[in-house]
Amino acid sequence: MRGPAPSRRTSPRPVARGTLRTPQAPDAPVDARNVSRVLGILRRESKKWNAPVVTLIGEQSRDPFKTLTGCILSLRTKDEVTAVAARRLFALADTPAKLAATPEAKIAAAIYPVGFYRTKARTLREIGRLLVERFAGRVPDDIDELLTLPGVGRKTANLVVSQAYGKPGICVDTHVHRITNRWAYVRTGNPEQTEMALRAKLPARHWIEINDLLVAFGQTICHPTSPRCSICPVARYCPRVGVVRSR
Ligand code: SF4
Repeated sequence: MRGPAPSRRTSPRPVARGTLRTPQAPDAPVDARNVSRVLGILRRESKKWNAPVVTLIGEQSRDPFKTLTGCILSLRTKDEVTAVAARRLFALADTPAKLAATPEAKIAAAIYPVGFYRTKARTLREIGRLLVERFAGRVPDDIDELLTLPGVGRKTANLVVSQAYGKPGICVDTHVHRITNRWAYVRTGNPEQTEMALRAKLPARHWIEINDLLVAFGQTICHPTSPRCSICPVARYCPRVGVVRSR
């Protein structure tokens, strides 16, 4: 494959901390022709970053149950807290049947201090019960079936289907939504719209990996409020839509 077209700007312009930014024309905005190249750059760079915690939890065994419960624990919770809570929960209950049989208070104590730990304990126990009753103790590999479970939204359902089962799915969280809009690759108002837009235009070979790449990228460089554009490896492809301050 040919490399990128020659550019007038060979490296990102350094930007002073706190500089007020307005959208600007990139050398080569992310589109159908170069999206694979942009993701390839992030794939190479991501080796220097910390992997997302939910993926780490799932990757330990590619276990759908651990991916599902880990994702629920991670909502509104810092990654470090999620990782520790998930370990305690799996020591207590590592199957739907065991989860359903564990008292709610015991689950709550195991997952404390994740955000909304009491509500999550109730939700997790109910999920365990429903998995046993409706799905023979198995986590479904179908997005619509997963969406029938309490506390499971499209982000979680897509993560389970794609990460744990290796089936087509695009897990769109706040990072994927924010960054693909900053690139103007999509122009959407919420993560669900972003998922649908990506399903329509992102090559299927990138569906599973895009969450990992953009979560890690969003946690380390393309931060929500003040992205580190001065060291961004894909700055030349980014029009920085909606970015008002950068470093
Ligand atoms: S850090 Fe984010 S907003 Fe800044 S240039 Fe890179 S992708 Fe664009």
